Amino acid sequence: MSGTVIIGAGQAGVQTAVELRAAGYSGPVTLLGAEQALPYHRPPLSKAYLTGEKGTDALLMRGPSFYSEQAIALHQGAEVTAIDHAAKSVTTAAGQRFGYDHLVLATGASARPLGCPGADLDGVMVLRSRADSEALKLRLEAAGRLVVVGGGFIGLEVAASARKLGKQVTVLEMQDRLMARAVGSDVSAFFAGVHRDHGVDLRLGDGIAAIAGRNGAVSGVHTTRGAELACDIVLAGIGVSPRTQLAEAAGLGIANGIVVDAAQRTSDPHIFALGDCASFPNPHGSGMIRLESVQNAVDQARIVAAGIIGDAARYQAVPWFWSDQYDLKLQMVGLSHGHDHVEARGNRAESRFSVFYFRAGRLVAIDSINRPADHMRGRKLLAAGAAPITPSDIDTHFAARRE
Ligand code: ADP
Repeated sequence: MSGTVIIGAGQAGVQTAVELRAAGYSGPVTLLGAEQALPYHRPPLSKAYLTGEKGTDALLMRGPSFYSEQAIALHQGAEVTAIDHAAKSVTTAAGQRFGYDHLVLATGASARPLGCPGADLDGVMVLRSRADSEALKLRLEAAGRLVVVGGGFIGLEVAASARKLGKQVTVLEMQDRLMARAVGSDVSAFFAGVHRDHGVDLRLGDGIAAIAGRNGAVSGVHTTRGAELACDIVLAGIGVSPRTQLAEAAGLGIANGIVVDAAQRTSDPHIFALGDCASFPNPHGSGMIRLESVQNAVDQARIVAAGIIGDAARYQAVPWFWSDQYDLKLQMVGLSHGHDHVEARGNRAESRFSVFYFRAGRLVAIDSINRPADHMRGRKLLAAGAAPITPSDIDTHFAARRE
């Protein structure tokens, strides 16, 4: 028996190995990670790890002995370069070959690079890996001024961290509101106010046109609206692209990610994909979706493990996300896009409120700011199979948490 080979030792890959053992899988489990570091948590990289409040040990997903104790053969620094699906094997850059009965693609996503003139200057950075975070941290120590391109989660979390470290921060967001992909406009406006109150020079409807340099290093940026800003670092937080190259070369279906069914199976029944790299049927709406979240990786790992041991499981979880900026905990559950009605509850002046989104009369999503009870209740109420919640139900279900 060749067992299961997992490509990618991020949240999705490690969790798949863990779930396989938890489900009683007794075959060999091989976990191949391109990075040298032991598998680590990514969320702190833009927050407490960047500010120095958390160290390397706090990032580790599991202690160093965990993998051997669980009979998980973890190979660090093992970059897979090819999948031979006819022979059921993979090859690494170092020339190692691993045969499999089942293959799991947990290849994640990579940060989109800036495409403007000057994007190759020293001091133009992205934040995805632990090494990226360490490089940014080191540079921030010596730098005074940072321009963040992109007002999504990564950009805003870095902006908040850099303000904590006393740096001057400008955020350029080409859309007219922050975090447009994830939250409603009300919440975007609230966060714009918060960042400005913390001294961020926030420029909505503005993007990067070019980066200026001196002696090969960043000296400033030109914005699409014509502003010229001096800075030492440009951090691109403009989204990610799913890593699909291996899957594509192996002839698997690709469409904004590696296409899988509700059981996380690709177009090859022996190959599964999950996490940031996988595009799956939306269980709560139409079409295919791809989610970049810890929860998505963890929940899909359970489905993959079930599929490998021969159980039929389908992915039906309600998506949830979080982002920490300053002393605010933003928690989101459900997907709010396409909503046609909004209700808000709580105390905005005290930065403690929730926004409830409805589509065709039923609750589809909630954004909560410092209201974890609303978020947790929402996760239960929106779970698959739960009865629909209408606008007039809100105060019944969330009344105890009303202020
Ligand atoms: P991330 O996970 O990197 O935070 P998101 O997709 O959540 O990614 O956010 C990226 C943000 O960057 C979006 O709000 C998008 O509008 C913005 N953006 C993309 N390209 C540019 C650009 N060239 N200039 C300014 N903003 C940009």
